[in-house]
Amino acid sequence: MSNIIDLKLFELVEKIKKKEISSNEVTKAFIDRSQKSKKLNSYITENFENALQKAKQFDEKPDFNKKLPGIPLAVKDLFCTKNIRTTAGSKILENFFPTYESTVTQNILDEGGIIIGKLNCDEFAMGSSNETSFFGNVQNPISENLVPGGSSGGSSSALAAKLTPATIGTDTGGSIRQPASFTGTVGLKPTYGSCSRYGIVAFASSLDQAGPMTQNVKDSALMLEVISSYDNKDSTSVDFKRGQYLKDLNENIKGKKIGIPKQYRVDGMPKEIDELWKKGMKIIEDNGGEIIEINLPNTNYALPTYYIVAPAEASSNLARYDGVKYGFRSKGKNLIDMYEKTRSEGFGDEVKRRIMIGTYVLSSGYYDAYYLKAQKVRRLIKNDFDQAYKKVDAILTPSTPSSAFKIGEKTNDPVSMYLNDIFTVPINLAGLPAISIPAGHDKSGYPLGLQVIGKAFDEQNILNIAYSIEKNINFKNNINDWWIN
Ligand code: GLN
Repeated sequence: MSNIIDLKLFELVEKIKKKEISSNEVTKAFIDRSQKSKKLNSYITENFENALQKAKQFDEKPDFNKKLPGIPLAVKDLFCTKNIRTTAGSKILENFFPTYESTVTQNILDEGGIIIGKLNCDEFAMGSSNETSFFGNVQNPISENLVPGGSSGGSSSALAAKLTPATIGTDTGGSIRQPASFTGTVGLKPTYGSCSRYGIVAFASSLDQAGPMTQNVKDSALMLEVISSYDNKDSTSVDFKRGQYLKDLNENIKGKKIGIPKQYRVDGMPKEIDELWKKGMKIIEDNGGEIIEINLPNTNYALPTYYIVAPAEASSNLARYDGVKYGFRSKGKNLIDMYEKTRSEGFGDEVKRRIMIGTYVLSSGYYDAYYLKAQKVRRLIKNDFDQAYKKVDAILTPSTPSSAFKIGEKTNDPVSMYLNDIFTVPINLAGLPAISIPAGHDKSGYPLGLQVIGKAFDEQNILNIAYSIEKNINFKNNINDWWIN
C-alpha cells in the first residue's frame, strides 16, 4: 500500500470504509509528519493527543456512513473550536478558549472528522502572506523562505506539505484562493451564505466566507458537502437546496460558455500567467466549451472599494476586543487607559492600519464620500457580473497576478501586498463562488493557479469545470520535503 500521507482525502475515506486502514493509523501518520515539520510553522496549536484518543474511539465504534469517517484534519485558527485554543493569529486572543464550536467545524465533527490542530494565519485574516501573524511567518513547502500566501497560509502550507489530508480556510478577499494558488493546491470560496459564519472570528462580515482547501477537485466537492449548511445561528446563511457535489461531479463541459474578462489582462502581468490563461482556454475549447470575451468594466474599482468596505467592517467587528470580554488585558490607570493599552499592545500593525482606515471612512463627514460611495460601486461591480452571466455560464481568470514571493519582499509596501488580491477581491464583493486550481509553474518552478468564477449558488458548475481542467492539465507539485528534520 502507498504511504498514508500520500493518499488523497477521498482515497483515505474509501480505505477506512473498506477497513483497509484504521482511523488511528491515519491520524498517527499525519501527526507524525506534522511533528517532523515544525520548521514550516504551519500550526499555532496542536491537538495531537486528544485527536489520537478520538481516533481510537472511532475505531472501537466506527460509523462508516459518515462522510469523514475518523479522518484527521487541521483547520485555520479562525474557527472557534470548543475548548481548543483559538487565536485568529493575534496576541489579543493568545489565550482564548472558546466555549462553543463554529458551525463549520461542528459539521466536520458531525461527519466523523477529527481536529488535529489549529493552523497559522494572518492576524484576524488580514494579509496575503501570513506575515502579519503574531505567531510568526509560515514557510511555503515549495521552497525555503517563500510565503505560502495568506491569510490562510498555515492551511495552504500544511496541506501542500501533507500534514493534513484537507483543510478549511476563510476568504474575505482571496484568502483561500491566493494561498491555494501559491502552493499548488485547490481552494474554493463558496457563495456568500453557503457556509455558516457562526463561530468564525469576524473580519468583514459582508465578505467573509469559509471554504475547503484540498489536494484536488474531488476532495473539494467532498469537503464542501460536509461544511455547507443552512444555519439559523447566522442571519446571513441562505436556505437553499445544497447539491450532492461529489456525486454530481462531472468533467463533461460540452456546450458550456466560459467568459474571459478583458479587464483582467493587467499591465505588468508575467508572461507565464498569460500563457497559463491561454492554456486554460484551449482546454475548455478542446473539451467542447466555448470561449466568449466579456466585459467587467468596473474591475479597476474593486480593490479600492474592498479597502474601504473591509476595513470599515473590521473596525466595527474588532471593537469587541477591549480587554474586558476576551483574552489579553493590559494594566491601565483607569478604564479608558486600560482599553487603549490593551488594544495598542494586543493588535499588530496591519490590524491597527485597518482599524484606522475603517474608523476614518465611517466617521461623520467622510461616511458619504467613502463608505457610501464604496457601497454604490460594490453594486456596480455586482451588476457587471449579472450582465456577464446573461451570456456565459462561468468565467475563467488567473487566480493571482504573480506566483509566491519571498518572505519579507512586500512587508514594507502594503499597497503592493494588496495588489495580490486584484483577481480575487471582485468575487467577494459580488458574493459569488470561485475556485482556484493549480495549472502550471512559473520559471522558478513555483505553482500558478487558474480561477473559475460561477453564478451565485452554482458551485457544482465551477467544480465540474475545474474538474475538467484538472484532468487535462496534469499538474504535479514538485515538493522535496526540504524542511523535514
Ligand atoms: N489579503 C486580503 C486582505 O488582506 C484578503 C484577506 C482575506 O481574504 N481574509 O484583506
